[in-house]
Amino acid sequence: MRKPLIAGNWKMNNPIESPKVLLVNILVHARMLEKKLLQEENASEIDIAIFPPSVYLKDAQEILTGSKLHWGTQNVSAYDEGPYTGEISASMIKGFGCDYVLIGHSERRCLYESLDLDQYVLDQIVAQKYAKAISHDLTPIICIGETAEDYAAGKTQDVLARLLDVLIEHQGVQSLSKTVLAYEPVWAIGTGQSATPEWVQEVHAFMRERIAKHDAATAEMIQIIYGGSVKPDNAAAIFSQPDVDGGLIGGASLEIEEFSDICYSAALHAS
Ligand code: PEP
Repeated sequence: MRKPLIAGNWKMNNPIESPKVLLVNILVHARMLEKKLLQEENASEIDIAIFPPSVYLKDAQEILTGSKLHWGTQNVSAYDEGPYTGEISASMIKGFGCDYVLIGHSERRCLYESLDLDQYVLDQIVAQKYAKAISHDLTPIICIGETAEDYAAGKTQDVLARLLDVLIEHQGVQSLSKTVLAYEPVWAIGTGQSATPEWVQEVHAFMRERIAKHDAATAEMIQIIYGGSVKPDNAAAIFSQPDVDGGLIGGASLEIEEFSDICYSAALHAS
């Protein structure tokens, strides 16, 4: 059985309260949630990971160390050190006690796409970052999803297969057993227009089957989470799908009540 994961991506947002206050609130609510779940017969234990902007990692480390919560960064460099202004390396990230890194978020891919790099080159960059994360014992959350144009053209599976194949080619299929895949249709991120639970299930099952062609055990083990306008009112239906192992939450991760409700849904419905 796969343990559900809820990952909260703050992006470059400042919480309404200060970052420190939100981190403390998350900690307090996570403890309340744990107690609440003791009353539920069918609740699973879940992992919760927070992705604040990197300048708040020290706060995350100070506030969350010793708790069951995890934290991580929204990006990692493909290099160890050197003249890469604005980048942050895997070993620096590890130094802040992080367990996870987000890789290939579509909001970052757009920045590179504006440089006119083609999809193949972008996938290679993601694969290099993936290798760096794994070699530093960080769990990569690989964001993968189609644009609105790809979706309309029926190319979703092609887009996902392309990146999955690159990762497998670079690091071997078994590396995926220590990886989280986040299916994030670009058209659903921050738009309030989530994918339907049935669509999410179909896509997650496709990815699992594709991995199973290389290694059935890895396919069974890998956590595949969904991201794209998850809110308390659609979380249960999405998380109830058999191949959905939790969610990557953007906007709602900055609202403590909403985020807690989503975590609660994951504990009751995911995996
Ligand atoms: C995200 O940032 O990965 C995301 C899914 O955002 P939102 O939940 O706001 O759509």
